[in-house]
Amino acid sequence: MGVTARRILLASTPVGPLGSGIGGGVELTLHNMVYGLGLRGHHVEVVAPSGSLHVGERVHQVDGALQVSSQTQDRDALIEMPSGSVLAAMWRTVSDIQGEFDVVINLAYDWLPLYLTSYLEVPVLHLVSMGSLNDVMDAALADVAQQVPGRLAAHSLAQAETFPDPAMFRIVGNGIVTERYDVQLAADAGAALGFVGRISPEKGLEDVAELSARTGRVVRVWGMMQDEAYWDRIVAEHPDARLDYRGFLPTDELQAEIGRCAALVMTPKWVEAFGNVAIEAMATGVPVLTYDRGGPAEIVVDGVTGFVVPADDVDALARTVGRIDEIDRAACRQRVDEEYSSLAMADRVVGWVDDVVGAVSVPIEA
Ligand code: UDP
Repeated sequence: MGVTARRILLASTPVGPLGSGIGGGVELTLHNMVYGLGLRGHHVEVVAPSGSLHVGERVHQVDGALQVSSQTQDRDALIEMPSGSVLAAMWRTVSDIQGEFDVVINLAYDWLPLYLTSYLEVPVLHLVSMGSLNDVMDAALADVAQQVPGRLAAHSLAQAETFPDPAMFRIVGNGIVTERYDVQLAADAGAALGFVGRISPEKGLEDVAELSARTGRVVRVWGMMQDEAYWDRIVAEHPDARLDYRGFLPTDELQAEIGRCAALVMTPKWVEAFGNVAIEAMATGVPVLTYDRGGPAEIVVDGVTGFVVPADDVDALARTVGRIDEIDRAACRQRVDEEYSSLAMADRVVGWVDDVVGAVSVPIEA
């Protein structure tokens, strides 16, 4: 049976070049989609800010001023565009080359691509990477859903449910290139706990510090130092916490380090749309201890691949630290292989593309 080969253009986030880490989970999502869709025989190109790493068949590198990340903005914030915006330039590129593609998949959480959706000739799909944060964005998403239904997808149900109309989203989860992650079936004796994420208030690192102080466990911290004042405050307010900041590492090094941890801790203060770091940890065999908030609580099977505790309950989290040995590290990896591999994700995305574009292109012999 043949499948339909698609020519797919992925539009990256305008907050930073691919490989810089500024784009957070969106960077990993994009790499994974390029890889998985490529393995399935689709032709994938990328539009991204200049200075991006090379991925896929081709990266269209676009110059311009970077967009400010929106996750720390208020509900009533207006849309901002810097002078010489890379976002505007990226979407001019999309418009210029749209005839070479069957579909554009936008990974950026920005107003402009939503607005342009009904004006471009090529179908534009939006994989929304964050929960509802801002009224102007909510309205722009609702407009797309109304004008061209079926174009919006979210990573988790919890993320979709932050919006007034969750049903406007298709849920596609996420995936990682599992081959890049080595399973470590045993943690080192007395191994540290791990935290991976941007150092920014929505990640709730103060609760991790509290956990460390209460349990006496070292927590190794990896991630972009986005808000240094926030970090300094946490360190000052938790003198007993044993936090060990190890900087931002590329995926290959990061996975080797995470794999040595006893567990990964996630204490989000916002509805984490997915939580890539949960599947990355599980891929290395590391159980995840998480609050029941957002994507991580859908990823972790309580008692099987980690523990899910009520949100903001540091006591409950501390109790799970004593139960980490109940988790079979092989089961963590198995869940990622089944649900969150590149191919599993690519197949969900292709199902979405097929529904929008219809089976019109050339079949690949399988
Ligand atoms: N990350 C990384 N190196 C580090 C710390 C984090 O590459 O030292 C990556 C991590 O692999 C993940 C991303 O940063 O892909 C964070 O994504 P997540 O979905 O957890 O959160 P976001 O930043 O999108 O809110």
